[in-house]
Amino acid sequence: VPLLTARGLVKAHGSTPALRGASVELHAGEILAVTGPSGSGKSTLLHCLAGIVRPDEGSVTYDGRRLEELSEQRLSALRRTEFGVVFQFGQLVPELTVLDNVALPLLLAGTGRAGARTRAGAWLERFGVRGQGGMRPGELSGGQAQRVALARALVTSPRVVFADEPTGALDSLASEQVMTALVHTAREAGTAVLLITHDAQVAAYADREVRLRDGAAAALGVTA
Ligand code: ADP
Ligand code: ADP
Repeated sequence: VPLLTARGLVKAHGSTPALRGASVELHAGEILAVTGPSGSGKSTLLHCLAGIVRPDEGSVTYDGRRLEELSEQRLSALRRTEFGVVFQFGQLVPELTVLDNVALPLLLAGTGRAGARTRAGAWLERFGVRGQGGMRPGELSGGQAQRVALARALVTSPRVVFADEPTGALDSLASEQVMTALVHTAREAGTAVLLITHDAQVAAYADREVRLRDGAAAALGVTA
């Protein structure tokens, strides 16, 4: 049984159709790349799967729960505890130190400050950015910022990480470092990853690839 299943998703932004009946399955521990041309609906699909946006039609089932049947409150609790997200431009909080950025999801989940900082520090260490813990996000290189964003997405030990072009703003060496860190950690923890990318070298890290075309079809190829 897949961990996350989407069936027949339809979503329009105003009069612009973004998804026209997309279906996809993500299994526990699987790394799935979602590829396709710009405007094909990849980000919209990710937002629907992660419970950030509600589709106009179709259903998303996570671990036996239909997201469309959950209240906003229960959906946001589920997102906080089970999902991690990382976007193209880390979206770290500029006023907080790097360490506190990573500790933040734990604080929101009710962990005490000292424990949250200890765990956050361990995740920074893992991603090779421990030395940057006291800096502000604006002082980091692009690759460092994305590794911090990954640490923040993983610090709560989510079962699914949604990554929307996490290497989109990076050169190829930094991309490789970010992807190696993500894949290694996901494998070790058994985390499922839904990875949006337009970069074939990044998609090659995935177990499987689903290609969106006009928000609908998924042509499939096994990559790794
Ligand atoms: P992709 O991630 O593959 O580039 P998106 O899901 O971002 O595709 O976009 C799918 C379509 O929906 C595109 O035509 C895009 O212009 C449109 N779209 C996405 N977000 C918005 C928005 N907030 N408002 C209006 N149109 C949007
Ligand atoms: P495989 O078994 O090789 O992984 P599937 O046929 O199960 O491939 O398809 C995987 C996903 O892609 C499914 O969720 C399916 O709904 C979707 N899909 C495949 N072809 C299409 C299509 N033509 N239109 C819409 N979705 C499609």
